[in-house]
Amino acid sequence: MKPAPFLYFRPATVEEAVALLAEHGDEAKPLAGGQSLIPAMNFRLARPGALVDLNWIAELSYVRSQRDGLVIGAMTRQRTVERSEEARRVAPLVSEAMPFVAHPQIRNRGTVGGSIAHADPAAELPAVMLALEARFRARSHAGERSIPAGEFFKGALETALGPDELLVEIALSRRPPRSGHAFMEVARRHGDYALVGVAAVVTLDPGGRCGAARIALVSVGDGPVLATRAAALLVGAEPTADAIRAAADAAARQDIDPPADIHASAAYRRQLTAVLTRRALGRAFERANEAA
Ligand SMILES: Cc1cc2nc3c(=O)[nH]c(=O)nc-3n(C[C@H](O)[C@H](O)[C@H](O)COP(=O)(O)OP(=O)(O)OC[C@H]3O[C@@H](n4cnc5c(N)ncnc54)[C@H](O)[C@@H]3O)c2cc1C
Repeated sequence: MKPAPFLYFRPATVEEAVALLAEHGDEAKPLAGGQSLIPAMNFRLARPGALVDLNWIAELSYVRSQRDGLVIGAMTRQRTVERSEEARRVAPLVSEAMPFVAHPQIRNRGTVGGSIAHADPAAELPAVMLALEARFRARSHAGERSIPAGEFFKGALETALGPDELLVEIALSRRPPRSGHAFMEVARRHGDYALVGVAAVVTLDPGGRCGAARIALVSVGDGPVLATRAAALLVGAEPTADAIRAAADAAARQDIDPPADIHASAAYRRQLTAVLTRRALGRAFERANEAA
């Protein structure tokens, strides 16, 4: 199928882009890599009256490490971040998760900001950003605001962004010393959307106990799900195999209400959540110990 007719704009600056979004209101949609939006338009699941193409805005593409962390421009291609040494050093969870996002051809075109703004519950990057407590910088004609990942994802394909707002930057803080991370998922074929995915970050305290833990889950709810009960069981505890297993079981039994669909039953998703969370936490604590 072909998309319904639409107006097309090619702004050269963020300023011009947000002016166009303000002018066209609900009718307009930003176009990033087009890897989700264009298929949706072709199937007429999306019928925006106007596309504001961000691909010519050079100021939105960068990966930079700073004293306190890493910043990524919203239009940075997923593949660029996957290959970035700075990302690997400062935010290795992002680098570890990136190869699970679709296929290289799609990552060559798909953007980090596009994946986050699209907010697919089966997407890897929203969960990674939630685990890392990312902050998202949004710009509109009226000004700018910073939105914590915890307040950004509102439901399936829904975010806190207004129709006139553009996601312009993703900011990630450096992890404290003695931190570890892991991303794991199960998909039917590599590159498919995950049946379940787990992003885990942990920090050890000076005594070797778990000082902090964040576990964000993919494909088990309306958006990325933070496993808060599992994390609460770990904080203050010694990260023994039993403690990790108890936390993983809590993630599967208490933190999620997974959907059933043609790909997997709810029971299978719970089982995958328990197994993957246990393995991801195990790996994350191993890395935290190695960093000690
Ligand atoms: C075959 C296939 C397999 C895929 N598999 C996976 C997978 O396993 N995991 C996964 O995570 N993704 C997968 N994807 C999706 C892919 O990662 C997309 O690149 C991503 O979801 C959207 O990024 P994009 O840059 O292409 O955004 P677009 O498709 O251009 O935009 C997506 C949505 O976000 C909005 N948007 C984009 N940028 C901004 C911005 N800066 N500010 C505000 N709104 C914005 C658009 O208006 C649109 O509504 C797959 C895609 C395909 C075609």
